[in-house]
Amino acid sequence: EWAAASSLRQVVLASPRSFCAGVERAIAVVEQALRQHGPPVYVRKQIVHNARVVADLRARGAVFVDELDEVPDGGVTVFSAHGVAPAVRREAAQRRLPVIDATCPLVAKVHAEARRFAGRGDTVLLIGHAGHEETDGTLGEAPGRIRLVPDPAAAESVRVDDPDRVSYLVQTTLATDEAAGVVEALRRRFPALAGPDSDDICYATTNRQQAVTEVAARAEVVLVVGSDNSSNSRRLVEVAERAGAAAYLVEDVSRVDLRWLAGAATIGVSAGASAPPGLVDEVVAALTALGAREVSEHTTTVEDVAFTLPKEVRQP
Ligand code: SF4
Repeated sequence: EWAAASSLRQVVLASPRSFCAGVERAIAVVEQALRQHGPPVYVRKQIVHNARVVADLRARGAVFVDELDEVPDGGVTVFSAHGVAPAVRREAAQRRLPVIDATCPLVAKVHAEARRFAGRGDTVLLIGHAGHEETDGTLGEAPGRIRLVPDPAAAESVRVDDPDRVSYLVQTTLATDEAAGVVEALRRRFPALAGPDSDDICYATTNRQQAVTEVAARAEVVLVVGSDNSSNSRRLVEVAERAGAAAYLVEDVSRVDLRWLAGAATIGVSAGASAPPGLVDEVVAALTALGAREVSEHTTTVEDVAFTLPKEVRQP
């Protein structure tokens, strides 16, 4: 094992990395709900896409469910950071469930745009990945009027009602370079294409991708801490690969395969917006134990974003 990493000299941490403001807020919502109401607190879907975060909250009394029919009457219910379709809100309201909405405000912004664009009669093209909870929620804002465009090929074939009334939205956690390519393809087909006033890809996604790109240019191997189902974490791996490094997604330090590190002198480390900082510390400690003598941080920007908690759990 030691031989495998004998070339290892230094670790470069991408900054920003790890938790974003939306994830911190969503976790705080569940923690605060547990304090105020006591367990169980029901959470629809994973509060954020990270196995460690979910396991920690489950141990403290959060009960994760797939759909609201698994929540008993009166059960305190949290909507996850990825947002929900209006149909889910309606169901909760009909059942008079006490709901605390942990939808990230930057996802809520995309929902508001979806309603505005669909409301003025546009066909709305949502650039995003099928089956992700965020896209499911956004699509639900205007069923039939919003179509999913996962890639440039779909941009070439998607059908719209009126080519002069088309707008687009983007899933918050896509790779900025890929999304730009899809927008370009759409604009070629629909010159009147309208878009959101400001970028849908959120600040945290953008910043983490920029930082990992610069780190990947300085490292042979990049380790991205994050869960398999975390969209923004997976995009960090792809972005690092496009920047020239071998990149791997790891749930935690136990998943690091020493063969990946063979021959590498510099290892870059980043983490998705849903991955706790403690998991990164464990990876860095292991790399130090393997012989990395220097641990430095490559900072591309300093974040100071914070979101207030929903009123249901705001402390007086
Ligand atoms: Fe919000 Fe962006 Fe974090 Fe998602 S990644 S929770 S959109 S800040």
